[in-house]
Amino acid sequence: MIAAVTEAVESMRVRDVPEPRDPAEGEVVVRPGAVGICGSDFHFFEGRLSEHAGGSGFPRIQGHEVGATVESVGPGSVLKTGQLVALFPLTACGHCYPCRIGRMNVCVNFSLIGVHEDGGLQEQLLIREAQVFPIDVASPVLAALVEPVSIAMRAVHRARIGEGEHVVVLGAGPIGQALLVAAQDRGAEVLVVDPLTDRLEIAKGLGAETVPWTTAEEVVGAAREWSPDGGPQVAIDATGVQAAVEAAVDMVCSAGRMVQVGMSGDSIDLRLGSLTEKEIDVLGVACCGTGEFGEAVDLVERNADRLARLVSHEFDLSEAPKALEFAMHNPRDVMKVVIRNP
Ligand SMILES: [Zn+2]
Ligand SMILES: [Zn+2]
Repeated sequence: MIAAVTEAVESMRVRDVPEPRDPAEGEVVVRPGAVGICGSDFHFFEGRLSEHAGGSGFPRIQGHEVGATVESVGPGSVLKTGQLVALFPLTACGHCYPCRIGRMNVCVNFSLIGVHEDGGLQEQLLIREAQVFPIDVASPVLAALVEPVSIAMRAVHRARIGEGEHVVVLGAGPIGQALLVAAQDRGAEVLVVDPLTDRLEIAKGLGAETVPWTTAEEVVGAAREWSPDGGPQVAIDATGVQAAVEAAVDMVCSAGRMVQVGMSGDSIDLRLGSLTEKEIDVLGVACCGTGEFGEAVDLVERNADRLARLVSHEFDLSEAPKALEFAMHNPRDVMKVVIRNP
């Protein structure tokens, strides 16, 4: 069978690899039909993932946003051959501190498919059945959206977003748009901020208010004007850009929550008084747990048509290196690139 193998830094090649062995009890072999590409794939490809995040593991088959069909199952499995599934990408150790308190998504010994172990950019993948979530949607492309949506699900949980609250999302890429849909699903009003008009148009189409990113001052002013309580209850950064993060902390109302979803190794300048005077919660988000992944499956099933708009480009598995390069070098035109294996 063929796979897109990342053999070294910035070197991906489509080549033959051995087929997986038969699944044992608790295991499944799936056939990935669609794999979404995101920023963390670029980081891995460019060798910029920190060692903690599994950055040094070449050769590796990437792909952690996977929609697949069940190919064969181990003894006693409840899954059926041919069933459409989304793959939960993470395994946790179960005994470290975060695992013991039910936060396996930040397990200190975590393992991610596509990073620490081989992922979806291949014709077949052997995986633990616990990571396989059946989904009722029309195509594996929609199933591949569950993983990015699950990050948004984690964020709205962390933010404790409630009915009628005002939420600002900074950044209108796929995660920002997923945050919009997940926050709306909890009954929130959502304002989306981004410098790119095309992205704001998509957010508008999904029912958001929008404000173009100009300067931090202007955006903070617009967000405060839009919120009846002098600022949004929740601001979520999906950019990892310093000015946006600072604006998010600045705009939230007293007793509000600021949620950091965008990843970055950069430092930021924060006025400490913003934390104490307003007593805001600053909450980080990383991946999600299995409960939230299940909720993301449900959200994608109920919003399949709306979320389908996030897929901007599709490539065949044989063109995987081209797809990755295209996504990396055309950030303004690309929403979500999906690699398909028909
Ligand atoms: Zn991703
Ligand atoms: Zn652990």
